[in-house]
Amino acid sequence: MLQQTTVEVVEKRWERFLARFPSAFDLAHASERAVLAEWSGLGYYARARNLHRAARVIAACQEFPNTLEGLRDLPGIGPYTAAAVASIAFGIPEASVDGNVVRVLCRLRGFKLDPKAPHTLARLRNEAQALVPARGAGDHNQAVMELGALVCTPRAPRCGACPLRKLCKAAASGKPEAFPRAPQRVKPRSIHLVAGVVERRKKVLLVEDEYMVKGHLSVPMFPVRDGERPANVLRKGWERIARRAVTALRPVATLRHSVLDRRYVVSLFTFKEKTPSPPRSRQPEADERSSPIPFPPSKIRLLSPSQIARHPHGGLLLKVLAAWREHGR
Ligand code: SF4
Repeated sequence: MLQQTTVEVVEKRWERFLARFPSAFDLAHASERAVLAEWSGLGYYARARNLHRAARVIAACQEFPNTLEGLRDLPGIGPYTAAAVASIAFGIPEASVDGNVVRVLCRLRGFKLDPKAPHTLARLRNEAQALVPARGAGDHNQAVMELGALVCTPRAPRCGACPLRKLCKAAASGKPEAFPRAPQRVKPRSIHLVAGVVERRKKVLLVEDEYMVKGHLSVPMFPVRDGERPANVLRKGWERIARRAVTALRPVATLRHSVLDRRYVVSLFTFKEKTPSPPRSRQPEADERSSPIPFPPSKIRLLSPSQIARHPHGGLLLKVLAAWREHGR
């Protein structure tokens, strides 16, 4: 959960996640939908899927792996996590190298390297491994990580409080923050989407997200290409998937949402539907029976906000619903 996410965000969710899935076996026996629902809003959903798959491997083996190789074989476990678990839980003398450790080592040795480049990581793993003691490897790894997080910070390292100061080449240079070199920035990609909210008796119409995170619920949402009008894209997109005509289309807000190097701009509308289509073969689910839309097509649901919380969804859906409550109702 802490990969790519801050402690402040995780600490509110970790307890709840553990209460819901107290052991690897509980997690293994849960459905993916339940795991993704509990992960909703944390982003990087591949982590949740991998954690779930890893729990299933552990449950199938009936034991938690206690070797570096066994840990590396689990889905979603890379060299950093395997080394961290191996050293902290089992005392295996393996260096755990994250971004903080890379920074500390580059400064200590005076390396002006690109911290994201693969050859930098390979070189620093060797450097880090040479420093790991035979006993207390877990404490050592945690100490270096904490030093990087709390003392040897990216912009304003506190060299006066650092136990490595006398050995540190970057501190001796007088400009420790110049180490390592600034990484090459990836140019963000801009993506324009149009989204629409349909409300029926205090419920919102939702579809399965085919675009951002598969398996999540989303309001109807479609990509807008250069030169296209968002309202037309929404109208045509909804008519294509629901076979119902769009009416009373009204702009609500323009939202911005970032995921890794993607910058989404979302034109948000509300709309109504003209004439419901004839009944289809699927029977309505319990929470859809009171819906005034008879027999919504498969993969289209009507849910209240409290029902949405029990289904997998991302941060963008929460932003959409907040903007709609504020400006669209
Ligand atoms: S002396 Fe300064 S630059 Fe060197 S490791 Fe410590 S905090 Fe970082």
